[in-house]
Amino acid sequence: MEFNETLNNLKNYEAGKPIEELVKDFDFNPKDIIKLASNENPYGCSKKVKQTALENLDKIPLYPDDSMYELKNALAKRFELKDENIIIGAGSDQVISFCIGAKCKQNSKVLMAKTTFAMYEISAKQVGAKILKTPSSEHRISEFEEIYKANPDIAVIFLCLPNNPLGECLSTKDVYLFLEKVSKNTLVIIDGAYQEFASFKDINKKIIPKDLLEKFENVVYLGTFSKAYGMGGLRVGYGLSSKEIINTLHKLRPPFNITSLSLACACTALEDEAFIQQTLVKNFEEMEKYEEFLSKNRINFTPSYANFMTINFSSKYKASEIAKEFLKKGIILRDLRSYGLNSLRITIGDKEQNIKVRENLAKFLTH
Ligand SMILES: *Cc1c(COP(=O)(O)O)cnc(C)c1O
Repeated sequence: MEFNETLNNLKNYEAGKPIEELVKDFDFNPKDIIKLASNENPYGCSKKVKQTALENLDKIPLYPDDSMYELKNALAKRFELKDENIIIGAGSDQVISFCIGAKCKQNSKVLMAKTTFAMYEISAKQVGAKILKTPSSEHRISEFEEIYKANPDIAVIFLCLPNNPLGECLSTKDVYLFLEKVSKNTLVIIDGAYQEFASFKDINKKIIPKDLLEKFENVVYLGTFSKAYGMGGLRVGYGLSSKEIINTLHKLRPPFNITSLSLACACTALEDEAFIQQTLVKNFEEMEKYEEFLSKNRINFTPSYANFMTINFSSKYKASEIAKEFLKKGIILRDLRSYGLNSLRITIGDKEQNIKVRENLAKFLTH
């Protein structure tokens, strides 16, 4: 069969290996598997979220409220915005594809950092857009400026703050200075999937959506319940922007794209601040132990503002081989070979998980 030819050169998104696959391949007990490959919350989600799921089981037979009034209201309160500034997606992944759909067609230009979230490129290529990447792996705002100056017709720019999979994060000041130089006709997407972590660690990296939207009308801020909130399985993300942009994104949104249970749980999640605070404190306590360990063993790593760390190996080691050895021990890490890197991305787990990871790393590195 002949398919849409823009899809010919499109690679599928490579998701972190699911626990189910490891159970099948190596005969592990699912309980013994440590999955630190998809930046999920090792402490699960708020207990109140689970309670809400149980209390809302009666909603299963009916279609969800497609206006998503309650969740929009809760988000509007949280960010001091209006409902009209909010769109909810089945994960922020879905909002990314709405943004691409709103701006791009065949040969539209989309700019991003060389090593960043894979879905930007996949979404853009689905509509045949042309991908421009900065020369450096990490975000360097001067490189974005240079490429933009040479290509003022760029339709969409992605900034991932902090950046997955490397963990670095531009300062808000640099982002604002850049945005001032961008035409109102270019859509800039600020992906804040890990903003809770970055703004906790360093106030200079904190993006305040209200402030951002007041200053710039051509920006979409993305947030998600999949990472700090520990609700990846429920698929809820959101985009915050001007009324005009949100109205356009809604034209691309399929009806009932969020389940009723997900909507109810997301509202509750926003109420449990204590759970998020605990997650953030523990994340950076545990990250410090990795930093000590890696420095002591002279392994290069990128300082991270998120809930993961990327460690870079010298040519003496093969990250892919190390990832395979970890799998045999029931530990799933993210091999960054598909990004052309000899690196592993490790989600910061809980204390016991991290001890096991470091024990095994020490073993593999001395062999
Ligand atoms: C995980 C992630 C997302 C989206 O997650 P959803 O589960 O689709 O909300 C978006 N951007 C980045 C950088 C991510 O790491």
